[in-house]
Amino acid sequence: MAWDFETEPEFEEQLAWMRSFVKEEIFPIETLRLSYDDVVTVIKPMQDEVRKRGLWAAHLPAELGGMGFGQVRLGLMHEILGQSPYGPLVFGNNAPDSGNAELLAVGMEMTGREDIRERWLQPLLDGTMRSGFSMTEPNTAGSDPRLLKSSAVRDGDEWIINGRKWYTTNGSVADILVVMAVTNPDVHPYQGSSMFVVPVTTPGVTIVRDVGAMDDPQVVYGRFGNHAEILYEDVRVPADHLIGPEGSGFLLAQARLGPGRIHHCMRWLGQSQRAFDMMCERALSRYTHGSLLSEKQTIQNWIADSRAEMHAARLMTLHAAWKMDKVGASAARVEIAMIKYYGATVMHNVIDRALQTYGSLGYSSDMPLEAMYRAARAARIYDGPDEVHRQTVARHSLKEYSPSEIPTQYIPSRTTAAEAKFADVLEFLEADSV
Ligand SMILES: Cc1cc2nc3c(=O)[nH]c(=O)nc-3n(C[C@H](O)[C@H](O)[C@H](O)COP(=O)(O)OP(=O)(O)OC[C@H]3O[C@@H](n4cnc5c(N)ncnc54)[C@H](O)[C@@H]3O)c2cc1C
Repeated sequence: MAWDFETEPEFEEQLAWMRSFVKEEIFPIETLRLSYDDVVTVIKPMQDEVRKRGLWAAHLPAELGGMGFGQVRLGLMHEILGQSPYGPLVFGNNAPDSGNAELLAVGMEMTGREDIRERWLQPLLDGTMRSGFSMTEPNTAGSDPRLLKSSAVRDGDEWIINGRKWYTTNGSVADILVVMAVTNPDVHPYQGSSMFVVPVTTPGVTIVRDVGAMDDPQVVYGRFGNHAEILYEDVRVPADHLIGPEGSGFLLAQARLGPGRIHHCMRWLGQSQRAFDMMCERALSRYTHGSLLSEKQTIQNWIADSRAEMHAARLMTLHAAWKMDKVGASAARVEIAMIKYYGATVMHNVIDRALQTYGSLGYSSDMPLEAMYRAARAARIYDGPDEVHRQTVARHSLKEYSPSEIPTQYIPSRTTAAEAKFADVLEFLEADSV
């Protein structure tokens, strides 16, 4: 039986290199106030170094242009990269480009269409093209994509797309948008939705605005990482801009979201660990009410609880990654759903405790904790709100049980059954005791 908590020595070496690279080279960029274009210039030599090491855009299987690492190794890698918002960018696997590359690759596999690689997949992997993922609509519940209203209607060799989307992350700086729309309203939504590549310059595409949000409340239009509201009005795209077969939108979304959630959870652990490091450092440095914070039991509890929760989240996430590598995303869906809400909550709580330990300094932008906290809050909403994933886990768990009018563990009825089962022995014991 294989049951192993070790990483292969060669990969461990790569992880060790990543740890020091992220700390020494990437952390310092965070403090500079740079435009997106400036960031691209600053990180270029770092990206070259990552390419030389064979770690660039590692998220796809080797035959589809990635490194073929599998989810466990990718997970370990994302834990390190996720410590900094710039980590994934330097390593060519930042969302939503990485997820979009994944679904383009799956669509390519489904249809055998090699042209997808050259047109969109390779440029996304090379980092020469930027993308957005346009699924959520302001007027329907994003938590239930079966309610999607955006439509695409076939007209000769073209599809005509209509709809209003919002929260398309990077929509205002993207070259292409991956749009989910209903192509057949007469069948179940799971078979009636499809995904399309829409170049942003296509007539009928209007980037209405970037939505002000916790991560950019005084919204600066066109900031990398912002979330765009986009209107699609009679947008015509050639038939070959359909990704995968018609009606495969949900299948593609699942293929994209499964690995994406593992990567997110491991990045969240990177964020949690960073907050934890800050919390411990402060606890050992701040003196109040007759002792250091590290000597107060509340702070000790926060440290102990955070450590245990991070450890649990890490094991759960690596297990989900392992299961996904072994049996695929569909069979691992309960494990993936569990880590989504558990990991998001652990990150939120650890950052919250760290921020509290720093008091006013933690709340200030002199420390990275306030920005980390704002980013952490979003994790409980995107990729499906936590409540939906809890529902999935509860539903699957309940399938393993059936109702029983008398509880199966009801002691009086168990006693009757046990007395019948052991009647002979009980009779003997009784006779013996007389
Ligand atoms: C930072 C950020 C980035 C995002 N990036 C993108 C992107 O790039 N592309 C994109 O298409 N979308 C993106 N989204 C949108 C995201 O996917 C949706 O916000 C999410 O799916 C929830 O949809 P909704 O906001 O419409 O909430 P609703 O569906 O209106 O749900 C609201 C609330 O209702 C509750 N709820 C919902 N269902 C249940 C249930 N079954 N049981 C109990 N309670 C329930 C939950 O508390 C939920 O938060 C992003 C969102 C954020 C915050």
